[in-house]
Amino acid sequence: MAYKLYIPGPINVSEKTYKAMATPIMGHRMPEFAELAGNVVPRMQQLFYTKDPVFLSTSSSWGIMEGSLRNVTQKAVLNCGNGAFSDKWFDVAKRCGKDAEFLQFDWGKPVDPEAVDKALSTGKFDSITIIHNETSTGTMTDIAAVMEVVRKYPEVISIVDTVSSFSTLPIKKDELGIDVMVTGSQKALACPPGLSFLSVSDKAMERASKTEGRGYYFDFLEFKKFFDKNQTPSTPVISLIYAINSKLDDIFAEGVENRYARHAANNKLVREWGYNHGFKLFPEEKYGSVALNCFANNLEIDIAGVNSELKKRYNMAIDGGYGKLKGKTFRISNMGDETQESMKELLGNLDTILAEFKK
Ligand SMILES: *Cc1c(COP(=O)(O)O)cnc(C)c1O
Repeated sequence: MAYKLYIPGPINVSEKTYKAMATPIMGHRMPEFAELAGNVVPRMQQLFYTKDPVFLSTSSSWGIMEGSLRNVTQKAVLNCGNGAFSDKWFDVAKRCGKDAEFLQFDWGKPVDPEAVDKALSTGKFDSITIIHNETSTGTMTDIAAVMEVVRKYPEVISIVDTVSSFSTLPIKKDELGIDVMVTGSQKALACPPGLSFLSVSDKAMERASKTEGRGYYFDFLEFKKFFDKNQTPSTPVISLIYAINSKLDDIFAEGVENRYARHAANNKLVREWGYNHGFKLFPEEKYGSVALNCFANNLEIDIAGVNSELKKRYNMAIDGGYGKLKGKTFRISNMGDETQESMKELLGNLDTILAEFKK
């Protein structure tokens, strides 16, 4: 059964996008492919707010999250962890054989710029990982404040995951001084999973050129060599590149600012709905994500039961909590193409079910 997805990724994909994926493919060394990539890349650069290249990677985001470490970390990496994805990044760094240190924050708390400053001031690190929007807890870090600190340490290459926040609000890569910024297709870009995007600064390219053990598949230098020809190093997921090309048409037709405003309004609608039911937000309100709401299950409702009724009766799905927060929280995404009407439809269905579960 295909549910209408209100989970925080993968999210609902439009008919138009699916149709775009059915476009017959070409050879990836043909001029027709270069034309397609040439349509996608400059528009992605606009969304990244960058003059740097944006590479297309045929992988989910973890591929380039791992790959980035292999390209830039020589001395040691500081992994800022405040939820499931960011905590895992520390584990991934160790698995890559990197000297890694974990800067830990409670789940639901943002990355604290002062703590980052203190850690970087030791001079131990040449790289740092930060997740802008920790999807597992619906927590958004003040990335401008963190980058203000990171910029004081020119030897430190910043790798910032914007996987679940990208295109829900402006994240101005060049202005913030982010070296490597990473995102994926299946969150707010509303495409199926399997394609990811990374934009790499000159400084990070320079570091990569002197880093041993970059491997092949995610080597920044390989990406760059083919980027210059509007190509990718190996055969890419062409159907998904058609999908993002179509989605970029949608995004720019809507207007980027309008899209941000729509996400903010939909997010507010859901948040107020939750408050009206007596739920608390899991993170501190000020750091609540604009891409999703993660509510605490302070009313101790059978969330799994609610979700299974939602699926059965209405063919829709929310998320019942990530990892150790399963049952203790629930998450509702407002990423992608959702409107006030489509969000209200979900919330109305949840009202009906909650009335039965709240007794
Ligand atoms: C979904 C997500 C990822 C992982 O993406 P994959 O596509 O599964 O590799 C990484 N970081 C964040 C913040 C995410 O939301």
